[in-house]
Amino acid sequence: MLLTGWGRSAPSRAEVARPAGTDDLMAVIARATAAGLPVLARGLGRSYGDAAQSGGGVVVDMTGCSETIAWDAGSGRLRAQAGLSIDSLLRWSVPQGWFVPVTPGTRHVTLGGALAADVHGKNHHRDGAFVGAVESFTLLTAAGPRTVDREHDPSVFWATAGGMGLTGVVLDLALRLLPIETSSMIVETERAHDLDACMSAMTDRDEDYRYSVAWVDCLARGATLGRSVLTRGDHARLGDVEDRSDRQFGQLVRRRRDGSDAARDPLQFSPRQIASVPFTPVVSPLTALTVSAFNEAWYRRAPRSRRRTVEGISGFFHPLDAVGDWNRLYGPHGFTQYQFVVPFGAEDVVRAVIEALSRERCPAFLAVLKRFGPADEAPLSFPAEGWTLAVDLPLTVPGLGAMLDRFDERVVEAGGRVYLAKDGRIRADVFEAMYPRLGEWRSVREALDPDGLFVSDLGRRLGLVGRQQVVSGSAP
Ligand SMILES: Cc1cc2nc3c(=O)[nH]c(=O)nc-3n(C[C@H](O)[C@H](O)[C@H](O)COP(=O)(O)OP(=O)(O)OC[C@H]3O[C@@H](n4cnc5c(N)ncnc54)[C@H](O)[C@@H]3O)c2cc1C
Repeated sequence: MLLTGWGRSAPSRAEVARPAGTDDLMAVIARATAAGLPVLARGLGRSYGDAAQSGGGVVVDMTGCSETIAWDAGSGRLRAQAGLSIDSLLRWSVPQGWFVPVTPGTRHVTLGGALAADVHGKNHHRDGAFVGAVESFTLLTAAGPRTVDREHDPSVFWATAGGMGLTGVVLDLALRLLPIETSSMIVETERAHDLDACMSAMTDRDEDYRYSVAWVDCLARGATLGRSVLTRGDHARLGDVEDRSDRQFGQLVRRRRDGSDAARDPLQFSPRQIASVPFTPVVSPLTALTVSAFNEAWYRRAPRSRRRTVEGISGFFHPLDAVGDWNRLYGPHGFTQYQFVVPFGAEDVVRAVIEALSRERCPAFLAVLKRFGPADEAPLSFPAEGWTLAVDLPLTVPGLGAMLDRFDERVVEAGGRVYLAKDGRIRADVFEAMYPRLGEWRSVREALDPDGLFVSDLGRRLGLVGRQQVVSGSAP
């Protein structure tokens, strides 16, 4: 099969196996080893670039390994197979009063993919990245299954978090869920008229909220450069969604935005996809003109001053999941996401990137700004204390490669880095400059996988694994 990431570019051809369980998976890997083929685990393919593909190798689709193995409803401790998606997990756990402690902007990722990328959510400044909730996991290494926990096998534990599938296949993992009283969110929304106003509002008050994110209009210019809509909140307590007036912010909080009665079933959770993009248009409708019009409407729709509402989990965390296959909107050439982090104090880099996107009229449809808390111990984990900006960009933007190379230079100079789960283009030398603990990670990987069984296109491109020829095909 030809495989791509969510950005639908740079396809490569691999044999895809979808084992139905661990025994089946071990047999697939034994066969690949005997045939001398490289192996890579793949989850739901939501990484944007070439992380979940391995040209000429065997790609193991983990979505058939999605059983719950053990569950303690008292403590919220769960052991599940790595192919379980956050979507399936939440549909099962939210009605019981438990939430996943860290969720990315889509529910359609597997637990294995979340650990391999050490994903972050809107709560990194409070709760850190995904691995923070993981107690242990079973890793199928080149030498066989290995139980890995943070206390007794720390180097393999931390090399696998953020290790992008290159230490082996995560078979199952044990994690702690977060108790919640309702499936609603108390959300505060406000506009910021420019980038400085946005950053200072986030700096001043992010600590008051568990979750915080700003949507940034990267096409605004002049005095409104970087104008934003801030959305911050926390899980609603039972008392928050009772049928009563809450006049704290001069607003009546009786009903959710969608009009449903939040008090009737406080833990109800049944998210729905309301539409999907049925085919890939020959020409993408996402141009500077249409994106600029959307941005204007989105900004105007947000309240001028802070407004408090009650929203559902999916609207707050995973709004894009309401539309299936939305990545097709970028047309046959696909898109990339440029996500970087720079330390606090390097706000000028964030500004320079937004200025360039605005100046070049790049149709940057979904741009989000967040503040990260301290990094964890994983050498290849992306989050580090500072500002992170993520921007979706069509690959048809003239001069895009050169512009992103210039951004990379600024990011490196500032001591920042780009996110591997979103990347499909960075150069190996730039990557090495961004991840100074790469040598430490390499030595753990080489000890675990001396013959280079686990290989991805991303790993070859960045020199993380021995280079082999990528068998490419045409765009799907
Ligand atoms: C709309 C959207 C929003 C997103 N928002 C965020 C966000 O807010 N924060 C964030 O951090 N990320 C975000 N992402 C990126 C996404 O969370 C990560 O790319 C995640 O890794 C995808 O999981 P997956 O199951 O689809 O894995 P895949 O994309 O299939 O694979 C990703 C990597 O994980 C490895 N892998 C998968 N399963 C296993 C396994 N069982 N064992 C070992 N390795 C494995 C693969 O080899 C690959 O290297 C977003 C992506 C999309 C499309």
